[in-house]
Amino acid sequence: MTNLVLFENLCPDYQPRPAPYFNPDTIIITKGSFQTKDQRNIVEAICGIYPKAQIIEKLDLPHNRVELDCSDPLELHYQGKKTLVFGTHKSALRYSDEDSNSCPNYWHFSPYGFCPYDCQYCYLAGTPGVKYSPTVKIFLNLLEMLDQISGAASQLTEPTAFYLGKLQDGLALEPMTGYSRIMTPFFAREKHARLILLTKSANVGNLLYLDHRGHTILSWSLNPPEIASTFELGVASTEERVRALQKCAEAGYPARAVIMPIIPIEGWQNIYTRFLKNLLQSVPLDRITLGQICSYSGALKLTERKLGRDNPISKQLEKVKSNDGRIRFPPELRIKVYRHLIDTINELQPQLHIGLCMEESRTFEALNMEGAIGHCNCVL
Ligand code: SF4
Repeated sequence: MTNLVLFENLCPDYQPRPAPYFNPDTIIITKGSFQTKDQRNIVEAICGIYPKAQIIEKLDLPHNRVELDCSDPLELHYQGKKTLVFGTHKSALRYSDEDSNSCPNYWHFSPYGFCPYDCQYCYLAGTPGVKYSPTVKIFLNLLEMLDQISGAASQLTEPTAFYLGKLQDGLALEPMTGYSRIMTPFFAREKHARLILLTKSANVGNLLYLDHRGHTILSWSLNPPEIASTFELGVASTEERVRALQKCAEAGYPARAVIMPIIPIEGWQNIYTRFLKNLLQSVPLDRITLGQICSYSGALKLTERKLGRDNPISKQLEKVKSNDGRIRFPPELRIKVYRHLIDTINELQPQLHIGLCMEESRTFEALNMEGAIGHCNCVL
C-alpha cells in the first residue's frame, strides 16, 4: 500500500488565492475535470477567485486540443497565457530521454502545464507541446501522479529525484491549487523518492510550515536584477525570489539556485559578480547550477518578436544548431562566461558544488569540470 492512503482528498479545506502575475480571461474545463467530487470542488473554487473570467465547459475535449482563436504566433502565445485549462494528464510522470548533450536522464512529472510568466527568452514556448497547446494548465489527477511516483520509487534502491519544473514553473500556480500541501508531506514519507522543484515565483507561503523532512529540495531560477528587469517580465523580481529562497532555507528546505540563462550584456562581468556576491552572502545554497541559452528556433522567433531582431541574445547566437537541435552561444563565449562565474563562486564559496545545465561534454572538458557532469539541478 502506498503512503498515498493518507491523501485521499485533493486539497481538503484549501481556500484558493489568485496567483500573482496570472489573470486568466478565459477558463476552459476539459475532459476528466469532474471525475470526482474533490476535482469539481477545486475547479469551482478556483473559478470563484477569477469572477471576470469567461468559463467554458468542454468535457469531451482533451486538455491539449483546446483551440485558440488566432493564428499569429505571438498573439497565440499571449492568448495562451491568459487561458487557464483544467484537465487530467494521463502520462504526467515520465523519464527524460536526452542523449545529445551531457544532461543525465531523470524522472519528471507535470501537475501543471506551461507557465503564466513572460520571460522574453522562454525556451519552453518553442517546444512542440507548448507550440500546439500554449495554454496554462492545472491537472487535477495529482493523486494519480503521486501514486505512479510511489510505484516507480518502490523499484528504487537509493534516493532519487522526481523533478517538477521541466515543462512548467513548479510554484507559479501554487496559491490557486495548494498542491505543495499534498506533495511535500507525500515525499516526506517516501523512502527513496525526493521532490526537486524549480520556480521563478515567490509563492512559498504554503510551504513554510510543512513537515518536509528534507525530502523536498527547492530551487530558484535567478538572474541579476539588471538582466531580470529586461528579460524576465511578469514574474517575481530577483529580490522577491531571493527572499523566498531565504525563507525556505530558514524553514530547513535544502535550497538550490539555477543561474540561467546567463546573458552577457554589456558589463556582464560586474553585473554577475555583484549578483553572486549578494546571493551567496545572503542564502545558504546546497548547489548552484549555471546555464546559458539553449533554445529552439520557434522560441527564438518569439524572443525576436518581443525584443526586436537586434536584441542581445539573438546578436550573439551561433548560426548553426548543436547536435541536440538547440541553438546556443558560440563555445568560446560560453566558456569565457562560465569561467568568470565559476572563478567568482570559487572565490566566494570554494566548497559550493557547481553544475552546468544543458551543456556539451566539450564545454565541461574545456573548464576541467568533467567530474561535475550529471551533478546538476534536476538530480540529487
Ligand atoms: S518561468 Fe520558465 S517557463 Fe515560465 S516564462 Fe519564464 S522561462 Fe518560460
